[in-house]
Amino acid sequence: MENCLFCKIVSGEMNTDFVYSDDKVAAFEDINPQAPVHLLIVPRTHIEDLNHLEEGDGDLIAHIYQVAKKLAAENDIAESGYRIVSNCGDDGGQTVYHIHFHLLGGRAMQWPPG
Ligand code: AMP
Ligand code: ZN
Repeated sequence: MENCLFCKIVSGEMNTDFVYSDDKVAAFEDINPQAPVHLLIVPRTHIEDLNHLEEGDGDLIAHIYQVAKKLAAENDIAESGYRIVSNCGDDGGQTVYHIHFHLLGGRAMQWPPG
């Protein structure tokens, strides 16, 4: 997808350091971290947001959660706890319209979220 920041990042065009990469997803540090651990897990295919998920995307979403679990363990937040967030649309706070999952940890999270 032309002019999509996350398409450019996952394709390697931006020379981003990946903390995880496979044929389906790439994960990297958020440029504006909101917690001591703040990673973004991003599918390599361009899906605009959660509203654009299709039936066949189930395996991809399950895979993203498996990657999140692995990255949580690697970053020593598996036991202390963490949060996985996918913002959708303006009210959800989405700013990049290529679906992605935030993995946040290393501090106590608030509820309800702001
Ligand atoms: P959202 O607001 O849920 O769409 O999340 C987009 C996230 O992408 C924000 O947390 C930004 O800080 C992050 N972000 C924007 N540009 C970059 C970049 N070049 N590298 C890493 N993270 C980025
Ligand atoms: Zn994209």
